[in-house]
Amino acid sequence: MGDSLASAWEWREAPETEFAVIGDPIAHSWSPVMQAAALQHLGRRERYLAVRVPPGEVADALARLESNGAMGVNITLPLKEEASQWARVRDVVAERCGAANVLRLAGREAINTDAPAFVATLARLGVAPAAKVVLLGAGGSARAMLPALVDAGYAVAAWNRTQARIESLIAELRLPVAVLPRPSIFDAAVVVNATSASLSAEPLPVPWESAPPKLLAYDLAYSRSLTPFLWAAAEAGVRTVDGRYMLVEQGALSLEWWLGEPAPREVMLRAISTHREEP
Ligand code: NAP
Repeated sequence: MGDSLASAWEWREAPETEFAVIGDPIAHSWSPVMQAAALQHLGRRERYLAVRVPPGEVADALARLESNGAMGVNITLPLKEEASQWARVRDVVAERCGAANVLRLAGREAINTDAPAFVATLARLGVAPAAKVVLLGAGGSARAMLPALVDAGYAVAAWNRTQARIESLIAELRLPVAVLPRPSIFDAAVVVNATSASLSAEPLPVPWESAPPKLLAYDLAYSRSLTPFLWAAAEAGVRTVDGRYMLVEQGALSLEWWLGEPAPREVMLRAISTHREEP
């Protein structure tokens, strides 16, 4: 429990709030700083808190938050599947990938803004549809990103440490995605790290020496310093982008769904770029 922006509440002790992000762990999340800046910029008085909810306790925690005035909740690891199951109404993306990152408590509605956010940032970074995207990973994020990339017109290839897992994911989703035995990047426009390797500071076996000149290395994870994936890319002279643009976009889409007015993306990006994490 805590009372500063950088700390989190246990769900049983959380005070009244209109909005929250829940996950476990959650104290590291940049969403409260980002969303508080957006709400303030819009002249709104609603609050947004980080609340720790252990797996298996999502329904009870949401009931308590709602009784304390909450109307909208963002969901982060490892609760996205549980949140999707809690919902009675899901959008197409949440339905397809079985994971939700935004809820409207009244009506038990769930959407997934991670995948549309990721694709929107690719377009803004100048990656043309039809370009080749190599995606690394076969977890929850890959499950959401792969169909979104295919739908947006990208030529997609995927690699995962456990090859059988990416093969069965692609078969299950019935996607025209090539499975790579190694994370080959020689003909890619973008290589996306959708693994959780950055969270444990582990390197990935990407052959950076074969990177084409205009390759973009995109890590879904974000942190103050370069992740091991982006550090290795930068060492090889590859352009790098971390997950903060996606964080801003998924948060902006969340706010717009809750409030029905445009979210101030520049303000949100500035808030997380100038925010200093507590030691
Ligand atoms: P997840 O479901 O836990 O998936 C884990 C994946 O990572 C699996 O494919 C696993 O491979 C792979 N992996 C783990 N450690 C590895 C290692 N040392 N080497 C190679 N592969 C490894 O995680 P997720 O929910 O998809 O999240 C993935 C990342 O996306 C996280 O960093 C998360 O923070 C980030 N994310 C960011 C945003 C944003 O807004 N910026 C939004 C959503 C997610 P195996 O199958 O072989 O185990």
